[in-house]
Amino acid sequence: MRVLYVEDNPANLFLVKRVARMGNHEVINFIDGEEALRKIDLVQPHLILMDIQLAGGLNGLEVVTRLRELGHTMPIIAVTAYAMVGDKERCLAAGCDDYMPKPIPVARLVDLFQRYQVQTEALARLDAGALSPATEEFSAEHLTGVVQALALDPKATETSEVLLPPPGPAPDAENKPSSAEKSS
Ligand code: MN
Repeated sequence: MRVLYVEDNPANLFLVKRVARMGNHEVINFIDGEEALRKIDLVQPHLILMDIQLAGGLNGLEVVTRLRELGHTMPIIAVTAYAMVGDKERCLAAGCDDYMPKPIPVARLVDLFQRYQVQTEALARLDAGALSPATEEFSAEHLTGVVQALALDPKATETSEVLLPPPGPAPDAENKPSSAEKSS
């Protein structure tokens, strides 16, 4: 998994890189939000960790807001030293998926990487066409449920083969009588 960590503190970066290496994750770092916004399409991260107090003219929440405005949907985790009530809500309101306090709890970071690795693998299968989102059995809502279940299930790496159908061509919609009226 490729992780973008926008962070201007070398000590935090060092810690995150060490934990990421244990899971064979790649970490790319920018210290300011402007560079992150400029290079996001080059990096194409599977997961973003976003410090809030950054070098440069933008804070982390402004960067997240801009990323979401630009249509980026990858998971973003705010990492912030503000231990204030309401901080998590501000992060979520800006478009973050979750919030992690500093100093970063290592066990929580390990767990976070594992969960998003599973989700990334599940999404990669969808992108590869293993499932057809157009079929009733695998609607977008159902897929979201599968992905969330995988992300939450600690045994998901073992069970994902059972939950997801094998890779292969999508079911041919034209052969299904129920969808005949939809064809051109
Ligand atoms: Mn900072």
